[in-house]
Amino acid sequence: MTHAQICIHKPLPINEFSGLLLGKRKSIALKILCKRFFRFFLILNFHQNQALGQAQAVLRFIAVMFLLPIPAMSFNSLGLSDTVLKGIRAMGYEDPTPIQLRGIPLILEGRDVIGSAQTGTGKTAAFGLPILTKLDKPGDQPRALILEPTRELASQVETAFRDFSRYSKLRTTVLYGGVKYGKQTDALQTGTDIIVATPGRLLDHLSQRNTTLKHLEYLVLDEADRMLDMGFMPDVKKIIQKCPDNRHTSLFSATIPPIIETLIQWAMKDPETVEIGMRRSVAETISHAVYPVAFDQKDELVLELLGKVDFDSVIVFCRTKVGADKVGRLLKKENHSVAILHSNRTQAERERSLKGFRDGKYEVLVATDIASRGLDIANVSHVVNYDVPQHPEDYVHRIGRTGRAAASGDAFTIMVAEDRQHMEAIERFIGKKIKREKMDDFDYKYTALFDDGKRGGMPRFRGGAVGRGYSFGMSTRGKGGGRKRRR
Ligand code: AMP
Repeated sequence: MTHAQICIHKPLPINEFSGLLLGKRKSIALKILCKRFFRFFLILNFHQNQALGQAQAVLRFIAVMFLLPIPAMSFNSLGLSDTVLKGIRAMGYEDPTPIQLRGIPLILEGRDVIGSAQTGTGKTAAFGLPILTKLDKPGDQPRALILEPTRELASQVETAFRDFSRYSKLRTTVLYGGVKYGKQTDALQTGTDIIVATPGRLLDHLSQRNTTLKHLEYLVLDEADRMLDMGFMPDVKKIIQKCPDNRHTSLFSATIPPIIETLIQWAMKDPETVEIGMRRSVAETISHAVYPVAFDQKDELVLELLGKVDFDSVIVFCRTKVGADKVGRLLKKENHSVAILHSNRTQAERERSLKGFRDGKYEVLVATDIASRGLDIANVSHVVNYDVPQHPEDYVHRIGRTGRAAASGDAFTIMVAEDRQHMEAIERFIGKKIKREKMDDFDYKYTALFDDGKRGGMPRFRGGAVGRGYSFGMSTRGKGGGRKRRR
């Protein structure tokens, strides 16, 4: 059941309904009443874990049965503390997202929770708000720990915690590598209630006895699949071993591969799973296309694309750190203002890049997949995949950096012959063929990709003039070509 389904029950106009009830069509009226009874019990069942106030339940019952608009579930009914509610209001959140509706009551109840959800679903608040409610007042030692795979996510989550808890006295400290220990050690010594950390740096602080996890009540393993991909599992296990057994554990992961399943069995107690649909589709607001090209023309093509497209801000994704540096240099040479983001850069450089890009100082951010998940960067008008992503889900994450908050966005993927299999995997993953396009006025060298349609197997391309350009459309799609935004 989606959030929209929960919150919006369009009432039948009263007159229409009473007409049915009084007239001959009683059976239709009864059917409607039955449906509404059923819906009411669904809602009750949905909230069985919450202390839903009786008055509110009665109001909702009346609303459902008598066809009045049902008040949307608000944060007020979830059992959060007043200070946390004030914090949420200050952030402008009005209604809880599905993962918040389902996760908050469970964590408040003290259950271990597996959130099968990815970034963008509101999961930070889903675990942050109940933890802050439960912690309530500052203590002597850290009582909550949030583990994050990257420094950027750690810093983003720390900011969210500070925002949520702005009306309380709870203290949050962020720990990540790539910066000096001094400030972090000072913060730990001054006292903190919540630690948001990447695993390696936290272990360093623990081994230096700068902090302890002995009093931990809440542990959150955020983006667990990402931590696995990045090789953090041994560190994560070491950290868990240092936490008390009677802690509450939550784990959030877009996917649950077998190794995470094993971790769940080892680290969690009778967890409840909250599954929020995996995003396999590309938002309707994003227009995306693939640009086949010969390997040695990738650089030329990316320059041509950036030269022709009138973008506000663009993220160029590369598969490797070395590749990102190389593309960054290439674009700088062509007088683009470029920031680079990957895990080999110093923390100060990474922060400068992200801030500069967010503030509009740089028009281009060249990044590895470190920036594809979770980073909340507004107003990215274009995404260019200089390299086809290796994991199909990263395609959705990457191009999801544009077209956010209902704005439109464009995404271009440069594809060479070696990328065929990855591209097919992406198309299987999103369940759609992605249109192939060709830049007009670009002096293409031959690549076997241009013959794909003739050999069968791969989608058949059909070339045709579209607008000013030459477009490869899928043979199944009729007229090929797509929107090429010029702003
Ligand atoms: P997250 O998935 O936690 O990274 O959240 C993604 C974005 O959604 C962040 O910018 C949050 O501030 C925002 N957000 C989370 N929950 C809500 C909510 N209930 N209402 C409005 N915005 C929200």
